[in-house]
Amino acid sequence: MTTVGFIGLGVMGAPMARNILKGGFQCRVFDIDPTAVQSIVAAGAKAATSPQDCAMGSDVVILMLPNGAIVEAVLFGPDGVLNGMAEHAVAIDMSTILPGQTDAHAARMKQAGRRFVDAPVGRSSAHAVSGQLLIMVGGSQEDVSAVRPVLETMGDTIEHCGPTGAGARMKIVNNFMSITLNATTVEALLLAETSGLDPELARRVMLSTTAGQGHMATTYPAKVLKGDLEPGFAIDLAHKDLLLALEMAGPLNVELTTGAAAMPRYDAARAAGRGGEDWTALYADARRRAGLSK
Ligand code: NAD
Repeated sequence: MTTVGFIGLGVMGAPMARNILKGGFQCRVFDIDPTAVQSIVAAGAKAATSPQDCAMGSDVVILMLPNGAIVEAVLFGPDGVLNGMAEHAVAIDMSTILPGQTDAHAARMKQAGRRFVDAPVGRSSAHAVSGQLLIMVGGSQEDVSAVRPVLETMGDTIEHCGPTGAGARMKIVNNFMSITLNATTVEALLLAETSGLDPELARRVMLSTTAGQGHMATTYPAKVLKGDLEPGFAIDLAHKDLLLALEMAGPLNVELTTGAAAMPRYDAARAAGRGGEDWTALYADARRRAGLSK
């Protein structure tokens, strides 16, 4: 019988631990907040007295903690996970932290002869409750296979992204996208409202275009990702329309900060002679600048 240690029973960790219990695993749990521990103990888990104690007797030890400094202390502190982990056990850090720090943790664990996987999660706390998280995993094939049944109690989509650190990297890329899109969403709705448009109407209109459907789902697979730079909508036209939005926003006192931040990408592509190419050719231009292609 696999025993899972779980450390960090907050908004995400508590429902994740509950789903591990529901999945039929035994659970040892630890949190610095005793109330958080009690509620999971009431659901059938055993309380541990420290991260080290939580790791002792566990085959898998999961961390779901606020930041990298706390993860480091919990893994390597005097009463940390490393001091309690059996040789066959696998530690999984599911927290969102800097990938470089994940690399350092993975290296330290390896040096100590212990197994480590990073597996941060996507989607929301509601998905943590329903067991439908997206889990982005970094680690060796063997380690990831060993922990997959436990991960499957918490998520319905498990993506093995590569070696240790790959999960942490995928998570930051994903969050960068959704977090910047949030700011653009604010600006679009604000521009609509200050122009006298009903924001619900604006939402409906944008849901039927690339604005709301997203480039990842629509234009990129149809154009630049298959090497087609023939203009469906040219960079020059997109540049003109971005200028129109910035000009429209001026008298309305709406700051289109992400709009202004996007402009240099268009300027650079036009300066490189790509104004007549499809707007997704912005990616081809950026890849060339990053030295990824000629
Ligand atoms: P949270 O603050 O609700 O929970 C963190 C828990 O860790 C708390 O219960 C806290 O008491 C405990 N803790 C703090 N220090 C500790 C220590 N030294 N030892 C043991 N326990 C300790 O945070 P959360 O929303 O559950 O997020 C956890 C992680 O998941 C974060 O890295 C976050 O970025 C990531 N995440 C959150 C969401 C979300 O929607 N909330 C979504 C995806 C990923």
